Amino acid sequence: MMRIAAALAGAAVLAGCVGPSPRAPAPVGHPHDPPPPLPVLAGTPPRIEGVAVQGGLVTGTARPGATLTLDGRAVPVAADGRFILGFDRDAGPSALLVQRYRGPAGNPLATETRLAVAPRAWRIERVDAPYRAGKTDAQFAAARPAELAQIVAARARATDAAGWRQRLRWPARGRQSGWFGAQRVYQGKPGSYHSGADVAVPTGTPVLAPADGVVILATPAPFTLEGNLLMIDHGSGLNSALLHLSRIDVRVGDHVRQGQPVALSGATGRATGPHVHWGLQWMGAKLDPLLVAGSSEGGR
Ligand SMILES: [Zn+2]
Repeated sequence: MMRIAAALAGAAVLAGCVGPSPRAPAPVGHPHDPPPPLPVLAGTPPRIEGVAVQGGLVTGTARPGATLTLDGRAVPVAADGRFILGFDRDAGPSALLVQRYRGPAGNPLATETRLAVAPRAWRIERVDAPYRAGKTDAQFAAARPAELAQIVAARARATDAAGWRQRLRWPARGRQSGWFGAQRVYQGKPGSYHSGADVAVPTGTPVLAPADGVVILATPAPFTLEGNLLMIDHGSGLNSALLHLSRIDVRVGDHVRQGQPVALSGATGRATGPHVHWGLQWMGAKLDPLLVAGSSEGGR
């Protein structure tokens, strides 16, 4: 009886009786549709490789044909059952992975996996630069909405890229000069936390694609903060943003291979000196390149 009660309790959660997430509203059917049958908790949960940690990425394998949600949001699953899960800088302390599939009689079944997300300590970085690249607040406010709209539109562009299956590589090798997740203070004024990792390299250094992908944004002119910005979709919800470039050598829609030179480094936008900023996101969760690609120093 306990098991059935637990299954029903889980099923009630699965049916989404609580309000939709503000980040991704659950799709709703026609108001007159009959409610879908409640799945029963049964079967083998997905296999997870790696440890969930803030800013980290794990890989996994689900049942063929299964669908997944992480905290209620749909997770892309490849035909072979492979998937990745990213954990935001502020994720945690746990996340619920639900796998849904059909039983032999077409009956809805589900598994639930509660993943503990390990917390991290974030450093404070003091940056000797004005908060908004020397522009006045009015200029910034005028330019920023259109820039952000382009970034949002780029991230919404799903592609068939398979680079998410690869071990990601740094776009440039060198001394890491900025750390993911650090709370930034610009000449005494607190800004948002640093959403990527910086590698200090001279202007004109070739910037390489971190993994196979499709170009989803290549700015024709520098953005206020990012400067010349190149974004590459790696598929399965994973994408890279490469900032402060002096030159971009690919165009939107281009397919790129891991390690392919795609741009030259620079110091455009809000930068105190030449470097490559690598921002990595999975389904909107900001990830730490250091966790997925190892150290930026040393050989490839
Ligand atoms: Zn940076």
